[in-house]
Amino acid sequence: MIQTKNPAKKFVVANWKMHGNLKQNQALLEAYIQNLSNLKHTQVVVCTPYPYLAQLQSMLSNTDIAWGAQNMAKNEVGPFTGEVSAEMLRDFGCEYVIVGHSERATAYCESDENIAQKFMVAKQHGLTPILCVGETLIEREAGVMELVVGKQLDTIIKLYGAGAFADAIISYEPIWAIGTGLAATPEQARAIHKFIHNKIAALNIEAENRLKILYGGSVNPQNAVQLFQVENIDGGLVGKCSLNAKEFESICRAAELSVS
Ligand code: PEP
Repeated sequence: MIQTKNPAKKFVVANWKMHGNLKQNQALLEAYIQNLSNLKHTQVVVCTPYPYLAQLQSMLSNTDIAWGAQNMAKNEVGPFTGEVSAEMLRDFGCEYVIVGHSERATAYCESDENIAQKFMVAKQHGLTPILCVGETLIEREAGVMELVVGKQLDTIIKLYGAGAFADAIISYEPIWAIGTGLAATPEQARAIHKFIHNKIAALNIEAENRLKILYGGSVNPQNAVQLFQVENIDGGLVGKCSLNAKEFESICRAAELSVS
């Protein structure tokens, strides 16, 4: 279930990746709290490395900002050295978890099946999965973006049915746009968001109504204004700019403005 602290229309998710330390995090979170406490239409979510989840819990518990992790185990418990389970994330107040981020899928050879399992285990434990999908540059140049994204979604649909997307989040993240400074144009994003929307809606309209579809890949304060106006773009997953309090605030304000 999406356990929004406010009934948000837009989501802006900060993905800090492997950045931060206790001192830097404290300063950044204090700025987030100060800058982002009066948003009415936007749910802000912060995803940090595991060791800082306790810090998030202690600093964000009485705010409107939610938090989550950047990955989790597909298994629930057992001899899986180095893994972190959904229940452990819940212990630290996480409501969200990113699954299938391309940086992980590439570096650790995560299969679509593994990612689908994580997606479902997250849901079963009351976490909202943020499923990352997207194509490489070669796939875009070959014009097979819809095939690639469709296949990533099909793995979940085949295993669990389209209903699994109810109360979940999909983040369309073209791999060529992540961390490159080269975001998708509103038109490029519009086409894939429409494709995702139509694909899920054709199978399960109720699930589609309860699904959020974010865009991720070099979102910045400038391009966020246009991107967040696009139909079927329900917000953004933000890497680099989430580490800068002012830039992140501007992105959240762009989300807010796109609703009001
Ligand atoms: C990401 O981490 O998912 C991401 C989109 O990063 P960036 O905003 O830096 O491209």
